[in-house]
Amino acid sequence: MATFNINNIIRPNVKAMKAYSSARDEFQEINDGFVFLDANENPFNNGLNRYPDPLQRNVKSILSKIKDFPANQILLGNGSDEVLDLLIRAFCEPNQDNVIAISPSYGMYSVLANLNAVEYRKSLLNIESFQPNIEDIFSKVDENTKMIFLCSPNNPTGEIIKREAILEIVNRFNGLVIIDEAYIDFATEPSWIEEIKKYPNVIVTQTLSKAVGLAGIRLGILYASQEIVAVLNKIKPPYNINQLTQLKVIEILSDYEKVVAVTNAIIKQKEVLEQALTEVSFVEKIYPSDANFILIKVDNANERYNQLVEKGIVIRNRNNDDLCKNCLRITVGTEDENGKLIEMMKKLEA
Ligand SMILES: *Cc1c(COP(=O)(O)O)cnc(C)c1O
Repeated sequence: MATFNINNIIRPNVKAMKAYSSARDEFQEINDGFVFLDANENPFNNGLNRYPDPLQRNVKSILSKIKDFPANQILLGNGSDEVLDLLIRAFCEPNQDNVIAISPSYGMYSVLANLNAVEYRKSLLNIESFQPNIEDIFSKVDENTKMIFLCSPNNPTGEIIKREAILEIVNRFNGLVIIDEAYIDFATEPSWIEEIKKYPNVIVTQTLSKAVGLAGIRLGILYASQEIVAVLNKIKPPYNINQLTQLKVIEILSDYEKVVAVTNAIIKQKEVLEQALTEVSFVEKIYPSDANFILIKVDNANERYNQLVEKGIVIRNRNNDDLCKNCLRITVGTEDENGKLIEMMKKLEA
């Protein structure tokens, strides 16, 4: 097993820097009897005149209970995108380090690597199974490889990455393994967050944008060792999660049974949609999905995509992604929306 030590991978300038200390970092107790004249806020109460909690303790406390995971090992971001950006900036030296990601996968990994002048190396998935090619990944690892990005269930393929494959990568690699679990709530396999105490180089990211139905508020979640979270807390913008978001998350997560019920309803609809797609003549392949979308192969993706747009139905054309020639990605909608899609697809057959 390779040895992992966070001190070997943190950027020297990040290690040396001191965090910005906000007014609410220096004095945390929110006590009704106190007079707060420390943050240059407007004193007139409109519900939002005060800065939000920089560590979002109430939000993390609910998440910690739901996920059965220590609150001090959670970091929140303005969407997963901010969390992933913080990771690259904390651990990858511009114009020197590199990261590896599976392909096809989520487009933001390469955007964020490019933005930070970090070399992006992609490793194609296995064409039949959409599972990672482990030997190919390790042929691309060198002493400047800081991270391997795995997305599971993967976007746009929909498949969960097999546990044994992730385990082998985690064991062999002495950098960070980022497992993006944006779609884990739709999957049949458990999350990797419970493995973090055993594997300190594992970082799991999740989001409230998909199963929880809060894409509009932008909340990304990172689960990692206390050491990693401490580094990220040091470099994050002090008030990165606004007060409206924090309040709404607490409200929605307080009724988690409802969130689970909606997730299950979407999974049910996915099964109905998968079945209906088998009856569309130009659909050549329906890939198995552990997410809230279905990847299909059709006779001509560009043409079918345009035809559906003309009928007012917008899906995602993935024709230009690696291994996705003539593939379309369909998000599972309501029963009514899925019904319209199938009806239109059948009309196109004629
Ligand atoms: C949708 C999605 C996200 C979510 O990003 P947010 O910024 O949290 O909305 C993250 N990763 C993948 C793979 C996704 O498909």
